Amino acid sequence: MALLVEKYGGTSVKNVTRVMEVAYNVRDRIKEGHQIVMVVSAPGGMTDELIERAKSINSNPRGRELDVLLSTGEQISIALMAMALENLGVKAISYTASQLGIITVGEHNSARIKEIHTEMVKRKLDEGYVVIVAGFQGVTPGGAVTTLGRGGSDTSAVALGAALGAREVDIYTDVDGVYSADPRIVEGAVKHSDISYEEMIEMAGSGAKVLHSRSVELAAKYGIDIHLRSSFNWREGTRIGEEKHMEKHVIRGIAATENLTKVSIEGRCLSLSDTIGAISRSGANIDVITHNYQRGRTEISCIIKEEYLDSALSAIETGEVSWRKELAKVSVIGLGVKSKGTAATVFDILSREGIEVEGVSCSEINISCIIPEEDVKRAQCALHKELIETE
Ligand code: ADP
Ligand code: ASP
Ligand code: MG
Repeated sequence: MALLVEKYGGTSVKNVTRVMEVAYNVRDRIKEGHQIVMVVSAPGGMTDELIERAKSINSNPRGRELDVLLSTGEQISIALMAMALENLGVKAISYTASQLGIITVGEHNSARIKEIHTEMVKRKLDEGYVVIVAGFQGVTPGGAVTTLGRGGSDTSAVALGAALGAREVDIYTDVDGVYSADPRIVEGAVKHSDISYEEMIEMAGSGAKVLHSRSVELAAKYGIDIHLRSSFNWREGTRIGEEKHMEKHVIRGIAATENLTKVSIEGRCLSLSDTIGAISRSGANIDVITHNYQRGRTEISCIIKEEYLDSALSAIETGEVSWRKELAKVSVIGLGVKSKGTAATVFDILSREGIEVEGVSCSEINISCIIPEEDVKRAQCALHKELIETE
């Protein structure tokens, strides 16, 4: 008998048919004698709809109220899943984060899990129940409902796995593994049988939304393997864990982030720390900073998400400010990035495609280029073709 911690994403529980299909599968594994804890997301598309509804009433809703609203999606899913399992003769019980005690700290809409009370989960498992927990949500020590940020149910699942001492967490989604690029965009994308924490953190952080990057960071911290797989075909998926291909210098993936804006500030005696400090205090995460000083004039620029442009603009106090919207970042990820000449090859591929590069950032395993948003699909396909398909 094993304890299985399984997360089901939005498409896996999008409608009644999907909920039933998952419930049948869970019933089969219960019959084999396993104990199962499920972490479930809101039905696919519901969180987007709730955000849209909130914004049609108030363009800038308070984080607290938005969290109360957004957490309802997951509450619907857990209740329906418990009913589906009961209907199949399987004992099941659902819990919201407040009922269970998934305690969070930090801001509304991007809270972080501090601790999870597992006594109730353990007791109910021992009594023979499937325990179904709402993903994406938490509760502050003072009792306010919080959410963890978009895609956060993956993080709920890994955190619960860690709290229960699980060695592995299964994350069920609508693709059967982590591919070398988003398979919905790059036709030739190939499925990885395994990928290291490090590479997956980089992929997720660069826009591969197949996993919430914080979930992979947590998995690495607690030594938990993530098995990312499909609830549509239940096949063996991709295992995310310790590096297995030490020193193998290959490019493992291409990822992209859209809706970026470049903000530039020009002036005399501009301070890099004051300018960047002001933008980051406005709430924006800052990427790809450049700093030029010529003939007494300073130019500072950085990349932020478009949704933070207004708050960043009101935070900048000195200098002439300009911005360019509709940018994207395309990233090439893997130890192969270290190989001599990879950056030059990346620039060459983009230049042959006629894609202008607005900025670059490089790390040990990541080369990222800022490009026009309209070129982002073409860039991913071209880089994938030349750097991965020809390997
Ligand atoms: P869930 O609702 O199950 O959490 P998501 O929509 O968050 O699912 O993530 C799954 C999606 O991630 C896939 O449908 C796929 O389009 C996208 N994706 C992006 N990059 C990758 C990649 N490298 N490998 C697999 N899927 C990817
Ligand atoms: N329902 C939330 C979202 O759409 C959380 C998740 O799906 O992981 O972002
Ligand atoms: Mg997701």
